[in-house]
Amino acid sequence: MKEPLVELDGDEMTRVIWSLIKEKLVLPHLDVRLEYFDLGLKHRDETDDAVTTEAANAIAARGVGVKCATITPNADRVKEYSLKKEWPSPNATLRGILDGTVFRKPILVDSIPPMVRAWKKPIVIARHAYGDIYKNVEIASWGAGEAELVFKGANGLEERKTIAKLKGPGVFQAIHNTEASIRSFARSCAAYALSERMNVWFGAKDTISKTYHAKFRAIFAEEFGSRTEELKAAGVEYSYGLIDDVVARIMRHEGGVLWACMNYDGDVMSDMLASGFGSLGLMTSVLVSPSGAFEYEAAHGTVQRHYYKHLKGEPTSTNSVASIFAWTGALAKRGELDGTPDVTAFAKALEAAALACIDRGVMTKDLVPLTTTDVKEPATTEGFIEAVAAELEKALAAK
Ligand code: NAP
Ligand code: MG
Repeated sequence: MKEPLVELDGDEMTRVIWSLIKEKLVLPHLDVRLEYFDLGLKHRDETDDAVTTEAANAIAARGVGVKCATITPNADRVKEYSLKKEWPSPNATLRGILDGTVFRKPILVDSIPPMVRAWKKPIVIARHAYGDIYKNVEIASWGAGEAELVFKGANGLEERKTIAKLKGPGVFQAIHNTEASIRSFARSCAAYALSERMNVWFGAKDTISKTYHAKFRAIFAEEFGSRTEELKAAGVEYSYGLIDDVVARIMRHEGGVLWACMNYDGDVMSDMLASGFGSLGLMTSVLVSPSGAFEYEAAHGTVQRHYYKHLKGEPTSTNSVASIFAWTGALAKRGELDGTPDVTAFAKALEAAALACIDRGVMTKDLVPLTTTDVKEPATTEGFIEAVAAELEKALAAK
């Protein structure tokens, strides 16, 4: 490989899986230079979270990163790890620095039919990763009163609206977004759709939110409108619909579309799609920055419950497929950017080996209720990775 692959290590069960994938599936077959950053919570705390920023900068510089799931600290975690403070979500920090859009794509396995009969191809979700309720400001009032929304322009002008006059205690929330972020989101969606040749559906609620949601709709129309020729040449169509109508259409569509979602819709709908397509363990995620940097990861978290069993010495059956596909996605992209087809070919062989294991009945517990294959006994976390390693060796030897 010409450029190193930026590697971001993480936490709990996924950290256990991470080193197994690296040691048993990748390093024995590929001479790969890794630029390693330890985003494990302990090390984030030790570096006052500087390691997260360093990792993001490295991805921006090198172009491709692969990331293990990480803990987003809350009050419980602060106690559990004796943290200096409740550090921000690493993914939010990465997204903030890379200014990227997250695309989530399910891994389709022949022997695991989607829960929704209509779905035949992946439905990719693009989640706008800035603002809305994720950067909200909230107040719970102590009694009767009036809430106002005020904008103070840098030019000295002011706009002010009454939110509500309440007779008793209430709750209030202010959210925001920026035209620049919405535009960059629309651009990332257009870029992804053009490269994957996928139609794009965008849904919002501009009938109710005539300013906020309407702004999203207008910017998408502008961005896709300015690429009419390019989209036409690639056979890509853009359409806008009300979010409820889009949800209804998604349930009846065969898939193969990119569904652009506002932040909250993307958060919720990506979990719906993940479970509809099979399991969180079969959902991958890639952050694409407008400048063309890619960061691959599994969509699920650190699988804390399994990790506590693992710590007690009990066997676990944690699905490593999405983490394996994070590695293969990153390696394939590295190979594409570097012009090293052998690296890309290795990534495809590793993916095929993982899918072949599932198709012949070797899979973790989460997939057993979903498959049409006979499964004697679910594989353990380690057992599945061993099986993929054997399958991969067989495939590489046959070449
Ligand atoms: P989670 O790690 O996604 O796991 C939730 C449950 O989903 C698991 O208990 C398990 O169900 C099932 N599951 C998820 N991934 C699985 C896999 N690979 N194989 C088998 N089952 C799987 O979510 P969480 O437990 O709510 O969060 C744990 C930590 O992850 C939190 O600290 C959170 O901050 C972090 N997190 C990180 C990311 C990220 O880095 N991208 C994303 C989300 C959450 P059963 O227990 O029923 O088997
Ligand atoms: Mg979610």
